[in-house]
Amino acid sequence: MNDCLFCKIIAGELPAYKVYEDDRTLAFLDIHPVNSGHTLVISKNHSRDMQEASVDDVCAVMATVHHIAPRILAAVGSEGYNLGLNNGRDAGQVVPHLHFHIMPRFAGDGHHLWHGKSIEDKELAVTAEKLRMAIAV
Ligand code: 5GP
Ligand code: ZN
Repeated sequence: MNDCLFCKIIAGELPAYKVYEDDRTLAFLDIHPVNSGHTLVISKNHSRDMQEASVDDVCAVMATVHHIAPRILAAVGSEGYNLGLNNGRDAGQVVPHLHFHIMPRFAGDGHHLWHGKSIEDKELAVTAEKLRMAIAV
């Protein structure tokens, strides 16, 4: 945990532009923002990702997102945001301390969402059954 970049920000050992803090969570500006106001929200308890985090910590982080996101939008003059989670290296996670990205959006800002693939209905049905079985365990 000592080597964790975001734990060092929590501890005040590394600088960050903090915008909100409570006893369980911290929010600070991303140093490479997608748009103005791009904010990272983390739990003060270290966990690498969603699998490792407790439900309580995830709920605390989500409560902070719910509280600060509309205020961030009002501050930067945005009317919508993407909430991002890169969970795991294959999903693009670079910093191994669970964090959510609040990314304010502006009309025509050029930021692209993911693109869906075409799929047969049969494949959706097979996948849904596989997932239902996995989730029921
Ligand atoms: P992810 O792990 O979800 O891919 O993204 C990590 C995010 O953390 C990136 O958007 C990156 O710009 C941001 N980041 C990386 N290092 C620092 C840092 O030292 N300070 C701050 N404020 N943000 C950082
Ligand atoms: Zn950490």
